[in-house]
Amino acid sequence: MESEKLLRECRLCPRDCGVDRTSGQKGFCGCGSRVKIARAELHRWEEPCISGKNGSGTVFFSGCSLKCCFCQNYEISDKGKGFELSCEELAETFLRLRDMCAHNIDLVTPTPYVPQIVSALDKVRGRLDIPIVYNCGGYEEMSTLELLRDRVDVFLPDLKYYSAELSAKYSGAADYFVKASAAIKKMAELTGKPVFDENGLMKKGVIVRHLVLPNGRHDSAELIRWLSENFEKDSIMVSLMSQFTPVYHAFDHKELSRRTSTFEYEYVAGLLQKTGFDGYFQQRSSADEGYIPEFFDRKYY
Ligand code: SF4
Repeated sequence: MESEKLLRECRLCPRDCGVDRTSGQKGFCGCGSRVKIARAELHRWEEPCISGKNGSGTVFFSGCSLKCCFCQNYEISDKGKGFELSCEELAETFLRLRDMCAHNIDLVTPTPYVPQIVSALDKVRGRLDIPIVYNCGGYEEMSTLELLRDRVDVFLPDLKYYSAELSAKYSGAADYFVKASAAIKKMAELTGKPVFDENGLMKKGVIVRHLVLPNGRHDSAELIRWLSENFEKDSIMVSLMSQFTPVYHAFDHKELSRRTSTFEYEYVAGLLQKTGFDGYFQQRSSADEGYIPEFFDRKYY
C-alpha cells in the first residue's frame, strides 16, 4: 500500500474530499499528512471485555470525519489539539503501550490516519502480540476498511443515527446510516463472530455502540430493529450507552440541551434486551463528564 498516494487525493472516508493532504491541503477532518494524537495511555473506560483489568492501550487521534455537535472530545476532534508523530514514533507508541501491559491497542477516531496506522502496524508485525481495536464513529468507506483486513482484530463502531435528518442536523452527514450500516456488515465479515480468551477479553469481533440521545428514542428503536433484522444474535455484540451530556454545539439544538432521561434509556434498553444480542448496558451513574481524559498538545512521553 502506498500511503502517500492515498493521502494525495484523500477519499479515505465518505466525505470524499479529494484533497492533497501531502501538500498541506486539509479536508473536512482537518488532518494533515502526519499522524496527530493527543494522548496514548492505559484507559479503563471501554467495555469490560476490552478494558479488562489492566486497561486498553488507547491512542486518541486528533481530527475527525464526523465532528458531531455533541462530541465530548471536541478539543481534539474539532479543535485539533494534539502533537504530530512519524509512523516510526507511532509504532514505538504501540510498543510502549504493550510494555505497559495494555490488553490491546485501542485506536480512537483513527479513520483519517488509516494509511499511516497500517504502516506503523506493519513495522511492529510479529512484535505486537495483542489485539488491535478500531474504535470509530461508524462513518467508514469500504476501501479503507479493506486495508484493515488481517490487521485489525476488533471493531468498536458507533451506530449513531437511523434518520438522515438527524445525522444531517447533528453531524452534517445525511448519508450516515447508509454508510455506517454497510460498514458494520463489512466489519463483521472481516472479524467473524466474537472470540474471547480465557480471561474474557475480546480477541476478535465487533461491538456496535449506540448512544441514546435526548428525544432520540424512536430513532434508537429503528437502529435496534435494523440490527436484529440483519445480524445473527451471536454474530456481533451491542453496547448501549447512556452518557450523553450536553457540551459544545449541542446547546445549539434545544432538544439536545439536557441529559438523556432514565425513561428514554430504559425504553431503548428494553427493546435491545428483547433482541437477544449479547452486550452491555452502561450504568446511568457513569453518565457524566468525569470520563474525559486529559489531552496534550506536545509529546509528553
Ligand atoms: S479523511 Fe479527511 S480529508 Fe480524507 S476524505 Fe475523510 S474528511 Fe476528507
